[in-house]
Amino acid sequence: MPSIQTVRGAIDPQELGVTLSHEHVMVDFVGAAQTGPHRWNVDEVVEVMVPRLREAQQQGVRTLVECTPAYLGRDVRLLRRLSDETGLHLVTNTGLYKEPHIPRDTFSLSPEELSERWIAECTDGIDDTDVRPGMIKIAVNPGHLIPVQGLIVRAAARTHLATGLAVACHTNDATSAHEALDLIEAEGMDPGRYIVVHAHNMPEPHAQDLLAARGCWLSYDNIGGSTPLNVYVRLIVQALERGRQDRVLISHDAGWYRVGEPRGGEQRPYTAIFQEFLPALRARGLDGDLERRLLVENPARALAVG
Ligand SMILES: [Zn+2]
Repeated sequence: MPSIQTVRGAIDPQELGVTLSHEHVMVDFVGAAQTGPHRWNVDEVVEVMVPRLREAQQQGVRTLVECTPAYLGRDVRLLRRLSDETGLHLVTNTGLYKEPHIPRDTFSLSPEELSERWIAECTDGIDDTDVRPGMIKIAVNPGHLIPVQGLIVRAAARTHLATGLAVACHTNDATSAHEALDLIEAEGMDPGRYIVVHAHNMPEPHAQDLLAARGCWLSYDNIGGSTPLNVYVRLIVQALERGRQDRVLISHDAGWYRVGEPRGGEQRPYTAIFQEFLPALRARGLDGDLERRLLVENPARALAVG
């Protein structure tokens, strides 16, 4: 039976409903050496973020994938509490981001050793809880991959092969995107379980075609952020023209409580897709079937294990 792991346990992919596949609840940019639960007050984060999550629920959202990796502010006890309080399905991750958010002892590990740590989070739970990851979140540096990011990509592929979890990789340019996919393939992982996060940052039609030809998912995920809305509309129209709308994810990359700022600084709401983007698609005659595919069916297919 296929399932998707949320912070409150495994659910049937059909229970996912409208899903925001790339968002953040809390981020701490201070770096791996200094971050930790001593840096935030969980009660305050709950107070600030529950209204934001409820706003998304009012738009019909039932699941939110929290893409903040360990050492960047991942706190699964917080996520569990937010999920209990709101009833929203939250999905967390195993994996690692980029420097300076990588702990020192990672650099000397082999891909095998690093993947063993991540696989342990899948089997035993994260941070002495029974909360398990529902995906693998990693990142690559821009340009040619530096050794530690190559290590992280390889470890992600191995963790996928052991657990079935999808890999989502923060990617901002074509060079790193293709080099990471080369490693994914070399490790024997199916690119069909690999999500190129921030693919909207390579908006040229040819760049999109080259990525899509490799069979990966393309995530257009900063809607309501700095990239103009019409770029996203064009990307979706192109995906439809090329018949690859079943390989596309959309989200806001929004939130989040900023650790270190008074009351978490300013948050960007998780609502632009519903208030701006879907109306823009409808104005072009794109129908409810497409909305369901982008927000319900595709996330369930991308994340389902088994
Ligand atoms: Zn993000």
